Amino acid sequence: MTAVEVAPGVLVTTSAIDTTTSTVVVDGEHALLVDPAWRPSELARLADLLDDRGLTVTAGFSTHAHHDHLLWHPRFGAAPRWASPRTAALAASERATLLDQMGPGWPPELLALLGAVEAVDGDRLPAPWEAVEIVVHDGHAPGHTAVRLADRGVLLAGDMLSDVELPLPEGPDDLPAYLAGLDALAPWVARAEVLVPGHGHPTHDPLARLDADRRYLDDLMTRGDSDDPRIGHPGMAEHHAHLQRLVRGEPGTPARSG
Ligand SMILES: [Zn+2]
Repeated sequence: MTAVEVAPGVLVTTSAIDTTTSTVVVDGEHALLVDPAWRPSELARLADLLDDRGLTVTAGFSTHAHHDHLLWHPRFGAAPRWASPRTAALAASERATLLDQMGPGWPPELLALLGAVEAVDGDRLPAPWEAVEIVVHDGHAPGHTAVRLADRGVLLAGDMLSDVELPLPEGPDDLPAYLAGLDALAPWVARAEVLVPGHGHPTHDPLARLDADRRYLDDLMTRGDSDDPRIGHPGMAEHHAHLQRLVRGEPGTPARSG
């Protein structure tokens, strides 16, 4: 697993599953781990990377309460793991479902750590990460949260603003909430030099991602279809069809949660 340094002290690794990103924010010998993912072997390699660089994890953060964003590894240690209050509540109340979504074959010691996040108050992480701002909104998931590293010019967007996945309003299917979420993110996207999506590739053109998501949803609502190239990406055609049914007011089939 190679780490790409997208900005000074901001390392991004990418899982073989769903182009899922993990972000390591480095401050001296401290590391903040955002959404570490995914396979046990990949989490172990992330722990190797931390060891190789002499880093100690002093906090974790989960952007939302989907199973692929609530992972942890014993070798990351016992640092506090933060999330928005709604995310923390859902991680607890939906624990049985989340464990089920992990599928078979997971080491029990990793399953035991799934979703063990605490609610963070306010719009900054506790010390020593108080420079890290969080932007809580709804859209992809209730209480979904973007992480702003203002001093590095970076916005970690969670499962919004991806170049490989379409906008995925999930749990509940709520397009107005999704559009409001994009509006909440807009000023932070405009001020970011680098945007890292939870699935996909970091970009130095964050506003293009926002424009693409707005254009897709606008096309869907005004003419019921879109020529967004992401529709051709793995698994996205069925989401597109699901959102088309949603816009037409037809009962939809449950979308994937991820
Ligand atoms: Zn998700």
